[in-house]
Amino acid sequence: MYYTCKEYYEKKFDSVKREYTFTADTQEAHQAWKKAARERLIEITGMNQCVRAEAQAECKESTQMDGYVEEYWLMQTEPGVTMPFYFLKPGNGEAKNCPTMVNPHGHGGGKEKTFRDWFAVDLAKKGYCVVCPDARGSGERREQWQQGDEAEKLRMNSHREIQQMILGFGQCMAGLAVWDLMRLLDLICTWDCVDENRIGCAGMSGGGQQTVWFAALDDRIKVAITSGYFYGFKDSLVSLPGNCACNFVPNMWRTMDMGDMGAMIAPRPFFVESGEKDHLEGARGLENVYPQVQTAKKAFALYGAEEKLVHSIHDGGHEWRGNGMLDFIDRNL
Ligand SMILES: [Zn+2]
Repeated sequence: MYYTCKEYYEKKFDSVKREYTFTADTQEAHQAWKKAARERLIEITGMNQCVRAEAQAECKESTQMDGYVEEYWLMQTEPGVTMPFYFLKPGNGEAKNCPTMVNPHGHGGGKEKTFRDWFAVDLAKKGYCVVCPDARGSGERREQWQQGDEAEKLRMNSHREIQQMILGFGQCMAGLAVWDLMRLLDLICTWDCVDENRIGCAGMSGGGQQTVWFAALDDRIKVAITSGYFYGFKDSLVSLPGNCACNFVPNMWRTMDMGDMGAMIAPRPFFVESGEKDHLEGARGLENVYPQVQTAKKAFALYGAEEKLVHSIHDGGHEWRGNGMLDFIDRNL
């Protein structure tokens, strides 16, 4: 016989009040709610404890590729915290005011995976600047236990180690990832090649998570694309608590659900890709996705912008298909 407590917490999720549930019925009320919700998210993630570094960034390598320039950069996001990233520029690298996409990666692998497996190079060849950073605990930012160049080690991350280390400070991985992405935007928005009014963000899985959080918290993101990360928290994270540690935010179940985060992105164009068989959606599959999309859609409707929220469903599992995404970016950025 086992006496488990998961069922107790699943019931508790239903009984607690989520204080920042989206209920606004005017644009003004939506904006006021978004501002208050942002403040609360910044508080519960512990982002308010992050420390700005002196602006420090250095381009270590620049290579002319076929149709784009690939640069490798190091920057400080907090004093002594270094974030490496690739920056792709179209053509010979001399174009100015380009639309720009941020591509955060998922839980397995780092920035190399993002720009090899997805559409970073396609975008650069089409005239976009593209930035692919390593999140804390991934790629070149893995802690000592996961470091190494073997294929198996390259897929590993230190999200659990870092999450457990920072929990005692009242911080969490989601907040630190967004902090780093914000500092990355501070930097690239000063560059001539980047049009600061045309910046988007796209990611899969953990990268989809970073995208939703980043776009919800920062209006500089004008277009957001998330794949493999948009589902109700209860089925996906309370009933599946073995998911990557970076998913968990103190007090989140008392703050809002995923659809409310989508509502924070409205009316900025938002593309959600879901796989019919994505196990991370939980036992009910897409039934745990539709209500969240509906919540977000109500916020878009306040602006007459329902068509700016696209829900694209494919027949696969937890995977990036990208159907329609390039068009969506071209149309909206
Ligand atoms: Zn993770």
